[in-house]
Amino acid sequence: MHIHISQEQEQETFDPRYPHPNPSISFWLQGTRSSPLLGFRSKNFPESADVVIIGSGLSGASTAYFLLEGENAPQNIVMLEARDVCSGATGRNGGHCKPDCYKDVAMNQSAGDVWLGALAEYIADGADVEGIVEWISDPEEAKKLSRCRHAHAVARIPAGSLWPFKLASGLLEICIKRHNLNLQTTTPVIAVRRPANSKHDSWIVETERGNIIAKKVVFASNGFTATLLPEFKDKITPVRGQCCAIIPTKPFSGPDLLKETYSFRWGAPLSYLDYMIQRPKDGTIILGGGRSQVTLESQIDQTDDSAKDPAVPYVGPVHGKPGLFINAGHSGYGTTSLELPQEKDINFPVIIFRDGSYYDLFSGNRRFDERGKLGGYRITRMF
Ligand SMILES: Cc1cc2nc3c(=O)[nH]c(=O)nc-3n(C[C@H](O)[C@H](O)[C@H](O)COP(=O)(O)OP(=O)(O)OC[C@H]3O[C@@H](n4cnc5c(N)ncnc54)[C@H](O)[C@@H]3O)c2cc1C
Repeated sequence: MHIHISQEQEQETFDPRYPHPNPSISFWLQGTRSSPLLGFRSKNFPESADVVIIGSGLSGASTAYFLLEGENAPQNIVMLEARDVCSGATGRNGGHCKPDCYKDVAMNQSAGDVWLGALAEYIADGADVEGIVEWISDPEEAKKLSRCRHAHAVARIPAGSLWPFKLASGLLEICIKRHNLNLQTTTPVIAVRRPANSKHDSWIVETERGNIIAKKVVFASNGFTATLLPEFKDKITPVRGQCCAIIPTKPFSGPDLLKETYSFRWGAPLSYLDYMIQRPKDGTIILGGGRSQVTLESQIDQTDDSAKDPAVPYVGPVHGKPGLFINAGHSGYGTTSLELPQEKDINFPVIIFRDGSYYDLFSGNRRFDERGKLGGYRITRMF
C-alpha cells in the first residue's frame, strides 16, 4: 500500500489513517489459517455497485448478510477490505458475547453499589429482569459461585462465548455462495468522494486497484472511519485493547473448567473491566482488559495492531451526505451488535435490546428511548 500521509496531516488532531498492512496474527487468526477467505478476491473488480461496504469485520459482514438475506436485496454488493477478512478487532477480541448493560462480578463494594443501583434504576424504568438477572450480594456466596477470592457481589446473566472470526467469516461465506457477494481483500479504500459535476446521487470509492461508482456506501471501518469521513474525528476514537490466551493450570482443567463466562468490575464511578472466557473445546482461557494498569494516553488514538472504544456506536445515514451510511464505533461487546432493525431503505445490525432500550455508557445504565429503537444511535448533525 502506498498512501502518502503529509506532515500537515500528521500534525492535525489524531488521524487514524489506514489499517497497518502487517497486523499481528492473533490467537483466533492463528487457528483459522485454512480459511478459504484469506487472500480472497472475487474474480472481477467491478466499476460500479449498488452498495459498497468498507470493512469485513462483524459490522461489515453482518451488514452484507442482512442486506442480502433481507427483502429487496440490492443486486450487487461489493465489500472492500484493507487487509485480510476480519483482521481488525473482530479477529482479535475476547469472544465474550453478552449484553454489556449487566455487570458480572463486582470486585469491591463501590463497584457492587454502582451496579446494584443501576439495576434498581433499570427495574424502576419498567424493565423485566425476572429470569434474566440473578443478583448475589452475599460476598461469601459470591466468592463460592464465582471462584474469585475477591468477589464482592455477582450478577448472573445469560451470556456465551464464541470464535468471532468464525462467526463473521461464516456470514461472509454464506454471502458469497448464496448471493455472489463481491469481496476484495487487501484493497484499502483511499477516499470516498462525489464525482465532479455529477448530477447523480452516486459516490466514487477510490482504491489503488481502480475506482467503483456506488449508489450507497456503508462505512464499517471501525476506528479508521475518520480517515474517510473526517467529521468523525474525535467522535470515533480508536482505543487499544488487549487480551491474551492462557493455557490453564490443573485447577482450571478437566472437570474443573469454568462453566460460565466472566466480567469483572472494579471501582466507581468509572469502572474498569476485565473479562474472561474459557474455551470448552480446548480449555484455553482468554483473559482481557487490564486497562487500569496502563495510562489512558497509551490506550487512546492507537491503531497499530502490528505489534500485538468508543462507546455507543454510530449507525445510520451520514448527515448531509445522501447515500453514505455508517456502521462503526462498536466498542467492547460489539459482538452483541447483530440484531436487525428495519430502516427505511437499508437495514443495519445494531445493539438493540428486546425491549427497545439501549445502553447509556455514561451512567452505566440501560435506558429506554421513547423515540424508538434506533434513537440511541441515530446520527443527527456533527458539530
Ligand atoms: C482486545 C479486544 C477485545 C474485545 N473483546 C470483546 C469481547 O469479548 N466481546 C465483544 O462483544 N466485543 C469485544 N471487543 C469489541 C469487538 O471486537 C468489536 O466491537 C467488533 O469486532 C467491531 O467490529 P467491526 O466490524 O465494527 O470492526 P473491525 O473488526 O475492526 O473491522 C473493521 C474493518 O475495516 C477495515 N478497514 C478500515 N479502514 C479501511 C479502509 N480505508 N479500507 C478498507 N478497509 C478498511 C479494517 O481493516 C477492519 O478489518 C473487543 C475488542 C478488542 C480490540
